[in-house]
Amino acid sequence: MKSLYAVIGKPIAHSMSPVMHNDLFQHYELDAHYHAFAIEPDDLADAVKGFRAIGISGFNVTVPHKVAIMPLLDEIDPLARSIGAVNTVVNENGRLIGYNTDGSGFVLGLKNKFDDLESKKVLIIGAGGAARAIYFTMAHVGVKHLDITNRTITKAENLANDCPYSVNTSILQLEEAENRLGAYDIIIQTTSIGMAPQTECEPLSLHNLSKNAFVSDIIYNPLETRLLKMAREKAANTQNGIEMFVNQGALAFEKWTGIMPDTSRMTTKVLTQLGGTKC
Ligand code: NAP
Repeated sequence: MKSLYAVIGKPIAHSMSPVMHNDLFQHYELDAHYHAFAIEPDDLADAVKGFRAIGISGFNVTVPHKVAIMPLLDEIDPLARSIGAVNTVVNENGRLIGYNTDGSGFVLGLKNKFDDLESKKVLIIGAGGAARAIYFTMAHVGVKHLDITNRTITKAENLANDCPYSVNTSILQLEEAENRLGAYDIIIQTTSIGMAPQTECEPLSLHNLSKNAFVSDIIYNPLETRLLKMAREKAANTQNGIEMFVNQGALAFEKWTGIMPDTSRMTTKVLTQLGGTKC
């Protein structure tokens, strides 16, 4: 019988996950299908009950359900528990187990670029859900110096205080971060500033950016945010949010099927869907 996989969220119509995962199922000759379901917050518990009844093999969880899903599952992986959000669920013999592959997906991309990631000096811009997954996962893999800047300082302080892993962190006002920018090897932009349709904004000035810095923006619509364009013009290396999106999907696929899929194939599929080219 065909296995069923899904993504639940609201809105969900523009999710690229169905195209990406259905292509993988076909490529690896797996008799499975992945479907997007728009689920209202009030219907989440019923949806999970329905998934249990039909014996779903696994599913992804996106905005606004990543936190609310947790009490509805049978077990939560320790990293996802500490992050406080689940984006991937695996059905193991009727038990629904929750994981978070957002942070791991991002860190996988960085590890492929830096052999010495642990010793890099990193600045995270933002303190929302995505920042939380990235900060906790980077601390978990041993990155020693991770500073945070955010519009709302208390949110950044809470994020750092909640982290169970040992890491050296300063919380900076945006202006302070701008002044000290030259000291960072890696800058990770995790706010929604610059995302379509408001593409003409950036969260901070790159005036003091070091030439050798690596600037990552986890937004993928547009493929090059204003911040990334400014970083590229200052000769820094840049990365958009496609790699994080593809890697979180690849890690979910691996948990479901035991196969670590071809991320290059996935990237091409996503970019085709977005109407862009590889960058
Ligand atoms: P979130 O939890 O709502 O956090 C939003 C962050 O943006 C907070 O730090 C917030 O600051 C900041 N922010 C929002 N509007 C702002 C403004 N006008 N001025 C200054 N700061 C502002 O959102 P999230 O889930 O972390 O997602 C953030 C972004 O990451 C979105 O663009 C999302 O599409 C992207 N994302 C990408 C991937 C991927 O796979 N590539 C995965 C997840 C998310 P305050 O704390 O001050 O409100």
